[in-house]
Parts: sequence; C-alpha cells; structure tokens
Amino acid sequence: MEKFLHFCLAFITKTCYFPRCWIPWGQDLKELAPDTLWQTVLGDLQLQVPRPTYDTWLRETRGITLSGNSLTVSVPSPFAAEWLERRMFQLIQRTIRKVTRQALGVTFQVGKAISLRSSVEGPITSQKPRGASLNKRYTFNSFVVGASNRLAYDAAMAVTESPEQSYSPLFIYAGVGMGKTHLLHAVAHASITRGLNLLFVTSEQFTNEFIAALRNHGTEDFRSRYRGVDVLLIDDIDFIGGKVQTQESFFHTFNSLHNSGSKIILTSDRPPRSLDLLGDRLRSRLEWGLMANIKPPDLETRKMILRAKATLLEVILPEEVVHLVSTKIYRNIRELEGVLNGIVSNSRASGVPITPSLASQTLQDIVPPPSHSSRDYQQVLEAVAAHYGMPVNSLTGTLRTREVSRARQVSMYILREEFHFALKSIASTLGRSNHTTVIHGVSKIKSQLDTDSSLQQDVSGILGSLGLQLPLSA
Ligand code: ADP
Ligand code: MG
Repeated sequence: MEKFLHFCLAFITKTCYFPRCWIPWGQDLKELAPDTLWQTVLGDLQLQVPRPTYDTWLRETRGITLSGNSLTVSVPSPFAAEWLERRMFQLIQRTIRKVTRQALGVTFQVGKAISLRSSVEGPITSQKPRGASLNKRYTFNSFVVGASNRLAYDAAMAVTESPEQSYSPLFIYAGVGMGKTHLLHAVAHASITRGLNLLFVTSEQFTNEFIAALRNHGTEDFRSRYRGVDVLLIDDIDFIGGKVQTQESFFHTFNSLHNSGSKIILTSDRPPRSLDLLGDRLRSRLEWGLMANIKPPDLETRKMILRAKATLLEVILPEEVVHLVSTKIYRNIRELEGVLNGIVSNSRASGVPITPSLASQTLQDIVPPPSHSSRDYQQVLEAVAAHYGMPVNSLTGTLRTREVSRARQVSMYILREEFHFALKSIASTLGRSNHTTVIHGVSKIKSQLDTDSSLQQDVSGILGSLGLQLPLSA
C-alpha cells in the first residue's frame, strides 16, 4: 500500500511539474510551429538550469525553423550563440530528445538583438574613473584586431556598446604583453564617455584596500565602494591566487555586483582553472560568463600592429623592416613595441634612416640569444606534471596510460618547439631509448593543437606558468 501511495505521489508530482514540458505521444513535430517546440524545450530547461543562467542565455531565444531533423534557434548575439554551443549544447540536445522523444539537431543563429533593459544614459564626459589611472593611448581605436584577439575585443566592446547583451563576467586571459590592460583601459574610456559608474582597479589594489579596510575596521566602506558600480574592471586577477580572505571578499563583491546587473571584466595570465583559488566556488563564478583567450598574434596582425605603432611615432617603416621585425618577434606585443622603439631611437640618435640593417642590428642588441640549461628541463617537466596533477617521475617513467602518455608528449612538444633542445637529449631526459619517439610525440601534439581546444588550453596554461605563450604561427 505504501509503495502504491509513493507511486501515486511521484506520478502526481511529475504531472504537476512537467506537463507542459512534454510533446504529446504521436504528435508529428512538423505540424508544430518551431517556436512552440522550442518553448516546450525551454520550459524543461528552465527547470534544469539556475535562474540567472536561464535569464541570461535562454530567455530571449526563439525557435525559428524546423526543417528535416534540425531546429534553428535564434539568439540575440554571437556571444550567446557561442556560449550556448560551448556550455549547454549537450544539455539542450538531451532536453530536446527528452521532450520530443526524437533526436533533433539544433543550430543557433544570431537574430535581431533583443534589448533587456533600456540603454544607459549618457554621454557624460566629465566623470572621472575611480581607481587606477588610465592611459589615454589605450583605446578601442588604437587596438589592432586580428584572429588572435577578436573575441576578447568584441566582448570588451559589447560591455559598453550593448551592455544588456554582453557577458558578465568577461574573463580575458593571456600571457604578458598581449593587450589585456590595453583592452581594460579601452572599456574604461568608453564607459566614462557613456556616463557609466566605473571602478577600475588592479587586483593588487583590491587586495591592498581590502587588507587596509580589515585593519581599520572599515570593511563596510570597502563594500560600499565596490558595490553600486555599473562596471567593475579588475586587472591581473591572478594576483589574488592563494590569498584566502581577499578571495572570500572578492567572491561576495562579485555576487553582489552580478546580482545587481553590473558588468565585471577581469584579466589574468591564465584561465580560472589554473588559478590558485580556494575551492571551486569562486572558480565557477569566474567561468560563468565568457572566457576569452588572447593568443599571440599571427604574422599579419603583428605587421599591422607594427605599422600602427610606427604611425603613432610618426615614422615611416619600410615594409622590409616590418617583415623582419614581425617574423623575429612573435610572442609578445610589448616586445614588438620595444624593438620598434629601439629602432626609432637608434635611427634618431645616429641620424641614419630606418633600414633593414639598422633594424637587424637593433634586434641583435635587444633580443638576447636563447640560452637553455638543464634547469629549463626540470622547470618544463615540473610545470607539465603540476598541470596534469601527477608526479614528475611519471613523465620519465614507463607507465603508459593515456593521461601520462599525453603529458609526456606535451613535455616533448614544449622542450622541442619552445626550447629547441636536441631530439636525443629530450629522449634521454624522458627516459626514452629512441629519439623517434620524440619526433612522433611532437608531431602528434602539433597536429592536434590545431583542432583540440582542451589541448590548446593545457599547452597555453603550461607555457603561461613558464612565462611563455603559445604562438599561433611563428
Ligand atoms: P598585458 O596587459 O596583456 O600584459 P598590455 O595591454 O600592457 O599587455 O599591452 C602591451 C603593449 O602592447 C601596450 O603598449 C599595448 O598598447 C600594446 N598592444 C597589445 N595588443 C595590442 C593590439 N592588439 N593593438 C595595438 N597595441 C597592442
Ligand atoms: Mg597588463
């Protein structure tokens, strides 16, 4: 009897909660309007995902066509499309299957933008930003956009251009000198122009202010300073790694700002999962919005940046010099600028025009030849082992599980491609008797890097921890 009651209760609960979430048996889907079908799927999704996620990513979507075995859903922005594809695709597919009892494909199409809130007032140009001082040269206009940084650029731009549809938080990560700070300043300038209430700090400032507030019992002031801003920009959030109380405080600040609809942009030298954060709570918050990785720029972008910087310095760079410098310097834009400044000042000091030979002389002076040692070996192996959470001796040992083999091949790749060690020496360091194993390992990683984004993240995370970056194309 008790079992029967349970069964009845379960049945009633199910039918009460879910009836509108199911398409009736035998219903031909083609007879349904695409949006009716999609709204049914949304009804079910709404029960499965947290409310903010639903409101941000799903509420404004519409089913637009249903043809063959595929449903096309219109989404308000390219970001939403990407987010849904990356984060919710499987859940959505599963829900469609559950609701329709059929396997339908789904594609997202960027439709007409739908505004969630009325746009900000403005422009008010007199307002000064609070927090860090701004470099007036770091604007969206002076930021050269290429494949390696487009996502970060578009997403940063959206925060001020169309805040209702922008990601929050936007987490921009990249190695040094890749334009993270430049982009944050650009957002700050644009926000000020639009009269938004902005706070821009480095995470070092955030930490220091928090510690000072603790000391002076002024945590209330600290809180109110951070809350109530429209846009919070924090540069180099990786700095709070390992700082327990600061992380706790940041977590609460984050939640309160997020709940009130403020936009948060953070930069870091590595993705949230490689930060030294306590617990998963904060990490998952940081991964809530969009994570945009700026990769080292490709050759064409490097050339465009050089030309743009030369224009700012009011010098004319011969194309040959542009080519020479941008093929030699490929990891870091700050370094690219440094070399250009060096060339220009050499030319001015000596009264010699900028020629390829002057440029190559400057390059030799500025860029030190690589010097690698056995210390580098040890560092690489330690970084790889730490990233994959295994002891260093697994890399040099004989175990051949998938994880260990992959980590070993990544070590080979980094030692060879980044440090240019000899194949034989890599083989012997890793305890392999034959250097063809290294050739095989390196080429496998190289080819997978083109398509495997989790591998890209692994390698760039490891390189980041070694103070290096993953070049798009050398
Ligand atoms: P990060 O904060 O990532 O270390 P920065 O923002 O300080 O890097 O950038 C280093 C230098 O490179 C700055 O002078 C910046 O203007 C320049 N820079 C970086 N990316 C670009 C870009 N896409 N276009 C123009 N300049 C850039
Ligand atoms: Mg910076």
